[in-house]
Amino acid sequence: MPSSAVAKIHTVDKNGQEITTVGFQRFGFDSEVPLDVLRSLYLRAHYVVTAKSGEESSEQEEQHARFTQGASELYQSKSIYHADTQSISYTTLSRFPPVKLLPSDKRKRILVTGGAGFVGSHLVDRLMLLGHEVTVLDNFFTGSKTTVSHWVGHPNFELVRHDVVEPFMIECDQIYHLACPASPPHYQYNAVKTIKTSFMGTLNMLGLAKRTKARFLISSTSEVYGDPEVHPQNEDYWGHVNPIGPRACYDEGKRVAETLTYGFQRQDGVDVRVARIFNTFGPRMNPYDGRVVSNFIIQALRGEDMTVYGDGTQTRSFQYIHDLVDGLIALMNSDETRPVNLGNGDEFTIGEFAEVVRDIVEKVQEEDGQKPAKRVKIVYKPIPMDDPQKRRPDTTRAKETLQWQPKWTVRMGLEEMVRYYKAKMAEGSL
Ligand code: NAD
Ligand code: UDP
Repeated sequence: MPSSAVAKIHTVDKNGQEITTVGFQRFGFDSEVPLDVLRSLYLRAHYVVTAKSGEESSEQEEQHARFTQGASELYQSKSIYHADTQSISYTTLSRFPPVKLLPSDKRKRILVTGGAGFVGSHLVDRLMLLGHEVTVLDNFFTGSKTTVSHWVGHPNFELVRHDVVEPFMIECDQIYHLACPASPPHYQYNAVKTIKTSFMGTLNMLGLAKRTKARFLISSTSEVYGDPEVHPQNEDYWGHVNPIGPRACYDEGKRVAETLTYGFQRQDGVDVRVARIFNTFGPRMNPYDGRVVSNFIIQALRGEDMTVYGDGTQTRSFQYIHDLVDGLIALMNSDETRPVNLGNGDEFTIGEFAEVVRDIVEKVQEEDGQKPAKRVKIVYKPIPMDDPQKRRPDTTRAKETLQWQPKWTVRMGLEEMVRYYKAKMAEGSL
């Protein structure tokens, strides 16, 4: 990806104000970092595309590995793809991105389970840049080492391959418990394992929180509301879940994980936080995980038919990853112990959403001088069983108690994500 590609994204929030940082200072915990530094960690190709064997990489290839103009280009490894031998020679970083120097009373030891996944890796980037000590625990079922490899070797960072269904001992101050596959094809792949992860994994991490007196946050989901009979969904709604359907391993798994969480709070005084996350998207989403945003973007970029399931009248509301990370950090550091919805209220039918994605992919392609000869088609496929008809969060509680509201529009987020997948395609890894 040429270094100028990112410069083309003029990122503005819902009020038309330019976004230059993400995060904020709230509840005594600073979560603010510059957007361009964060982007330097995800919005680029992982390796230089071509270099003939034995030759030094050219200035042009060096450019490819960078994408921001400025200091952050110093903090990237440069791995070279040798097209003739189809091999990659990996380099290590010469310098890590600068992390804040925090006084010891402000620096937290933070465990992130599932930290190599989509949400986890963005949370890890933020916590690292803010100067905390971060341990990632992951079994790499759906996550990948590459999402956090840019921190490996940093004195504040540790990456541990471990399955949360087994107990784990560590000393820590905060636990973000995210480990669990999140996309329907992945969580249905081994339904029994999904339930074990939700139940035994949460039990183990709550036990750890009890022993260490760490604050514990679980990433629950809007799926606890099932196919909801009230709209939009607020936290007091108990849900409408089929306990034996194909989504039950995840939906019921998260419901029992919430039950366990509040059990430990009542019985053992564990300090808990529960985030009910609504559909979230962004770079580093596994392109093959079957979720709608990744499917649509990849299909449109490849010029393939975009597959809408059912008649496309079912609705979802999509939030961008940086807003979610803001919300998770705010919740962790606030006093709010009740469940809190984190999501974006902008609701789309899936049929409309396919058109929005197609428009944005075309816009980016046109800007890059790659306008396709014809538009991709939107086609209709059978709807999966128990697919919820409507979903939109009521985020009043998050607004009132966390002073949190999503800033990113779906369009702005989609544009960044399209550029991320384009960069992956350009390097041949997708
Ligand atoms: P993801 O699949 O990208 O990440 C999950 C991570 O957990 C992966 O790195 C995976 O390898 C790891 N993992 C899975 N089982 C594990 C186990 N037994 N032991 C250790 N690690 C394990 O998914 P994501 O989108 O990043 O979701 C993260 C969390 O957020 C999940 O708990 C999910 O339920 C929740 N959530 C996500 C969304 C969303 O839209 N992304 C919505 C609602 C809730
Ligand atoms: N969907 C679709 N086409 C796809 C993938 C998903 O129409 O290629 C639909 C899916 O049936 C659901 C919505 O998009 O109605 C969101 O699906 P996703 O798997 O992303 O998340 P869910 O909210 O269902 O867990």
